[in-house]
Amino acid sequence: MKAAVFQGVNKPLVVEDIPAPEAEGTKDVVIRVGRCGICGSDLHISEDPIFGVPAGVVLGHEYSGEVVGVGKEVKEIKVGDRVSVNPLTSCGECTACRIGDLAMCTSMMVGGGGYGQYSLVKEHQCVRMPEGVSIEDGALVEPMAVGLRAVYLAQMPPGARVLVVGAGPIGLAVTFWARRFGAGKIAVTASSTRREDLAMDMGASTFVAPSETPVEDVNTALGGPPEIVFECVGKTGLIQRCIEHVAPRGTVVVAGLCTHPDTFNPFLFVSKECRMQPTAFYTTRDFQTTLDVLEAGDTSPHGMITDTISIDDTPEAFEALKQRTTQCKVLIDSWNS
Ligand SMILES: [Zn+2]
Ligand SMILES: [Zn+2]
Repeated sequence: MKAAVFQGVNKPLVVEDIPAPEAEGTKDVVIRVGRCGICGSDLHISEDPIFGVPAGVVLGHEYSGEVVGVGKEVKEIKVGDRVSVNPLTSCGECTACRIGDLAMCTSMMVGGGGYGQYSLVKEHQCVRMPEGVSIEDGALVEPMAVGLRAVYLAQMPPGARVLVVGAGPIGLAVTFWARRFGAGKIAVTASSTRREDLAMDMGASTFVAPSETPVEDVNTALGGPPEIVFECVGKTGLIQRCIEHVAPRGTVVVAGLCTHPDTFNPFLFVSKECRMQPTAFYTTRDFQTTLDVLEAGDTSPHGMITDTISIDDTPEAFEALKQRTTQCKVLIDSWNS
């Protein structure tokens, strides 16, 4: 099968012909990958040795596809099912795994495989897609579930003033769910205005352009300081900025994945008595909820897809995404590769 294979840190991906996986284990499921999103954390993995991903791995953790093979003990999932894949690999047996909280399994790892034509997962990672959800939208479920989890963990009071820092797919997903969780005004801010329309489509009340006086501008836009601030970028200095923005006794939710040591001034954090809530993953139920909302006909997340490419074009597109780009979510279409 064809796959865009990771060659090591700071090396471009290479399209290779590698053996397709088979369902050898009793709980194995082989997926014919439909669409896979290229994620900012895949770019991170390819640039930062902290992740420790070895050469030869097929990246890609945001994908949907069709089941083409199942192991002997697979019961719920059948050949022909369309599924969205929870990419967290885990034991499948412990209490956390049994309730779909794979992130809390002691053997949890973030899996990949979506940049190839076929991937191998376990039955408990598969979430069946309803008829009404397209294979494209199936690849958005993972980043949407990240946003859902972030908003859930925020413990946001109804009508809260919300600030979302960052308008990448996670910032947009957070905006989408904050609106549906009963936020009041939602301001989105980012380092450029190119995602303004997308942010408004996802449920923002206002987009605050970068400025010299960001705190004042956001307070004016929201009618007061934000009670909840979501950090959805993952760069150094942004936690400090979120603390400057947040209302006293408010909550800063850190969804950005920064891999460098970062500092903030505890004085402001302590004197505001604010709360900091990190978030990274999701549960299988978050996948199900996202699919239910998409099935109900909410089309705004689909707007995040700005390009669809083949596996052959993936190495080049992957390098291009490391630069500042106008793309939001680029999907790899392995059915036309
Ligand atoms: Zn991702
Ligand atoms: Zn487990």
